[in-house]
Amino acid sequence: MTVETHPLIPVARSLADDLLAPRAAEVDQGTVPASHIEAIRRSGLLGVSAPKQYGGAGAPDSVAREIAEILSGACCSTWFVQTQHHTPVRMLAKSALPVRERLLRPLATGELLAGIAFAHVRAFPKVPVRVTPERGGWRFDGTVPWYTGWGLNDVMLLAGVTDTDEVVFAFTEAREQPGLTPSAPMRLAALTASVTVSLELDGLWLPDDAVVLRTPQEKFALVDLPRNTNASPAVFGVAYAALGLLAGAGEEEAAGALRGRLDEVRRQVYELAEHPVPHERVAERLALKTRAYDLMRAATTAAVVARGGRAMDLREPAQRLAREGMFLLVQGQTVEVRRAHLDALAEI
Ligand SMILES: Cc1cc2nc3c(=O)[nH]c(=O)nc-3n(C[C@H](O)[C@H](O)[C@H](O)COP(=O)(O)OP(=O)(O)OC[C@H]3O[C@@H](n4cnc5c(N)ncnc54)[C@H](O)[C@@H]3O)c2cc1C
Repeated sequence: MTVETHPLIPVARSLADDLLAPRAAEVDQGTVPASHIEAIRRSGLLGVSAPKQYGGAGAPDSVAREIAEILSGACCSTWFVQTQHHTPVRMLAKSALPVRERLLRPLATGELLAGIAFAHVRAFPKVPVRVTPERGGWRFDGTVPWYTGWGLNDVMLLAGVTDTDEVVFAFTEAREQPGLTPSAPMRLAALTASVTVSLELDGLWLPDDAVVLRTPQEKFALVDLPRNTNASPAVFGVAYAALGLLAGAGEEEAAGALRGRLDEVRRQVYELAEHPVPHERVAERLALKTRAYDLMRAATTAAVVARGGRAMDLREPAQRLAREGMFLLVQGQTVEVRRAHLDALAEI
């Protein structure tokens, strides 16, 4: 079965064309509606990478990437809320701990939607969230700077670091509870609709059977590397959506030229994403990621230029895509990604 013939691809396309894209301007100025989340839950897309024996589709990564492109190009805020879910699913699928039996099926079928609170672990040796063994479980203290989908998702994958430099990942309900207090939703230049908050943790206690993974920080950093050095499919999703606008404004030639270059970078990025050793060829991955950013920026800028003054209207897709693209420049950013990107920008 090729990517295009996988049954979840037309499901994603009709969700994007019939629901997400037509309402993207309205969602951008408000909040991702619960009805969008409901439609995503029912679609089966939340189980794309989950094992079949737990009710998922067990689809190859190429299918998950294609779906991410389709959703992000239609409504980046909705894509971003649901994309958080896929890391917890993958982590549960690899875990041998009891939480797998409790949560993998409801996550794979979309009965439950998960969010994540672990980007702060990348700040090591700074430890924004400290975990301490306590009363047969784990106590979490500190600040989670970013948590997306508050009030929209059901469970949260939370991580912190112990004083022996072990990273502990555990699940909890995504709601205010003793030891867990959310901020007000952030007002952002883009993706305000994704309901992103910060979380204050003050003695949040989770039982040991909530833990899905314990791993030395060094090992986590290695496994995490490809997650942030590979270009995100959303960069291509937003870029192709902008090229669609450009062509629609009568600029087929410019759109075609950019599309050709984008197609080639995309091919190389996805080829490297399939490389059997995910933490190798990092310099090449970063160079391609930066090139993908350049092309996305050119595509969204071209869409704005082609639409002229009208592009500034908040209901206009061109300015929304440009703002969403700006968000993607910092999403999942690490020190290495920032360095590579700034070095490349300095060469322009
Ligand atoms: C709108 C929005 C929503 C987000 N939602 C989520 C979410 O739901 N869940 C989630 O986990 N993350 C989320 N993030 C975080 C995001 O994925 C990135 O990790 C984040 O944008 C990186 O930038 P920063 O400003 O947090 O890091 P910065 O503090 O600017 O740091 C950049 C990089 O350096 C590292 N770093 C910082 N200080 C140190 C230090 N002292 N020593 C070594 N390294 C250090 C950081 O960990 C990071 O990797 C969200 C971000 C945004 C903008």
